[in-house]
Amino acid sequence: MSELLDYFIHNPTALYIAIGLLSLCIGSFLNVVIFRTPKMMEQEWKQECQLLLHPEQPIIEHEKLTLSTPPSTCPSCHSAIHWYQNIPVISWLLLRGRCGSCQHPISKRYPLVELLTCVCSIVVVAVFGATWQMLAGVVLTWVLIVLTFIDFDTQLLPDRFTLTLAGAGLAVNSLSLYTTPTLSIWGAVIGFLCLWVVYILFKVVTGKEGMGYGDFKLLAALGAWMGPLMLPLIILLSSVVGAIIGIILLKVRKENQPFAFGPYIAIAGWIAFLWGDQIMKVYLGQ
Ligand SMILES: [Zn+2]
Repeated sequence: MSELLDYFIHNPTALYIAIGLLSLCIGSFLNVVIFRTPKMMEQEWKQECQLLLHPEQPIIEHEKLTLSTPPSTCPSCHSAIHWYQNIPVISWLLLRGRCGSCQHPISKRYPLVELLTCVCSIVVVAVFGATWQMLAGVVLTWVLIVLTFIDFDTQLLPDRFTLTLAGAGLAVNSLSLYTTPTLSIWGAVIGFLCLWVVYILFKVVTGKEGMGYGDFKLLAALGAWMGPLMLPLIILLSSVVGAIIGIILLKVRKENQPFAFGPYIAIAGWIAFLWGDQIMKVYLGQ
């Protein structure tokens, strides 16, 4: 592994190409995760409800959905998607954004998520170079992309991603990859508590629920990765990102969409992860 790292330290172009190609393929997989996870969760909830309400009735076994089964098909004509129709971005361009069998349009979002995954991963490489920080940072980026799109679609931040990310943050910082183990723990605790306090206050004052527990867990995860000192910056940035995206969405859609806060925290967290130290230095005038 260290030989490989050595090779990439001396050949940065090879590193960009390797991470670029890898992340394009990962982006293709992230599309599946973004599309299927909410459906898988719904299936699990239905089974749990059935078990709770009618334990005497056998659960009707539908075809169980996982990330790998059943294989992807066209949503319109249900014909199988061949491997050569599944090459990131290129297949979409070659097929001109249409199903190879029935010409049903395929959403632009699939190649866009692949490109976004590629570009964001390359930015991480540009910031960290051939280091362990880069490798863990690329994985963090992938999970944040998944969370952003799932929350945007469904207003859900699944525990399986937020809690795993929090655990991973504590794990990488047990080796002091980005911050000390102690700061990582406090980052997770304070990250969770500060939004929780806002949530309680908001609920007491307005009687409504402004955000969900997923938001607290996501901020806790980011705190675990970066330590508590980065949390004020993340919250500040998330309101800036929220304002910008809010204005864009209002212009594009002209309709009232349900409010999801998670994508803004995720994007702000990613910016803070890469350039937080520099932004703080400029902000504090050092
Ligand atoms: Zn089709």
